[in-house]
Amino acid sequence: MNYRHIYHAGNFADVLKHAVLARLIAYLQQKDKAFRVLDTHAGIGLYDLSSEEAQKTGEWIDGIGRLMKADLSEKASALLAPYLDAVRGLNADGEIRRYPGSPKLARMLFRSQDRLSAMELHPQDYRILSRLFEGDFQVRVTELDGWLALGAHLPPKEKRGIVLVDPPFEAENEYERLVDGLAKAYRRFPTGVYCLWYPIKKGAPIAPFHEALKALEIPKMLCAELSIKSDRDTTGLSGSGLIVVNPPFTLKDELHLLLPELKAVLAQDRYASQRCFWLRGE
Ligand code: SAM
Repeated sequence: MNYRHIYHAGNFADVLKHAVLARLIAYLQQKDKAFRVLDTHAGIGLYDLSSEEAQKTGEWIDGIGRLMKADLSEKASALLAPYLDAVRGLNADGEIRRYPGSPKLARMLFRSQDRLSAMELHPQDYRILSRLFEGDFQVRVTELDGWLALGAHLPPKEKRGIVLVDPPFEAENEYERLVDGLAKAYRRFPTGVYCLWYPIKKGAPIAPFHEALKALEIPKMLCAELSIKSDRDTTGLSGSGLIVVNPPFTLKDELHLLLPELKAVLAQDRYASQRCFWLRGE
């Protein structure tokens, strides 16, 4: 377990993932009923962008750094407001130094009835995350393999929820694990909203991954991808994607509005691209 998210916090991939997470939470909050977010690979929750690690890569500068300065359309600004207000809320003086990871963002958006279960396996990151939420009865942090949580922690007792699966993709078989993990989780909690993150880079098996997901025969699966550059000259990420199972009926239209604007803001060369389509359903 070498992966440390501090090197990547607030980058273009976090922007898409966190913008969508905030939209999913906003949608579930249209009803009073409580829900739970299960964050299987949670990270440390709050990132210091002025730290040596974050400064070393500077990835956030071309992610949240660009987005906070962007001139967005009124509609896109309204859709992104919950997410960007949370980032602003952590950076009162206007300088972006602190960035909320998925568990912190979810918690910042919660009402009093909403709950978070966060899993983190790296012992040091687990300690930091549990300190962040110490004494917060709306949050439970567990030092547990997030893949196991997809069995043991589902369905949530609230019977409504979002399951975010955001593994580090250190291992070769992480795409297959996502498919297997979703199959297992969906059997236990078929009404849940699932958000699965995956990397796009040269040689990544995106087409077989999509085919394997389709073969699960889950009725509603939306795919959103944003690539910020060509994959030719990089060994790192050129883009990232999200699979949203049981998406709110509003999400596809929202993404059709947001993705072109995010692409315009985050593009690093003329090969930047985006797409949003039903992998299954509608
Ligand atoms: N979801 C976070 C966010 O959006 O802010 C970022 C998570 S980061 C991409 C992946 C995290 O998963 C790392 O903190 C890593 O230590 C942790 N991790 C790796 N393997 C894990 C496992 N099997 N179970 C739980 N956490 C794991």
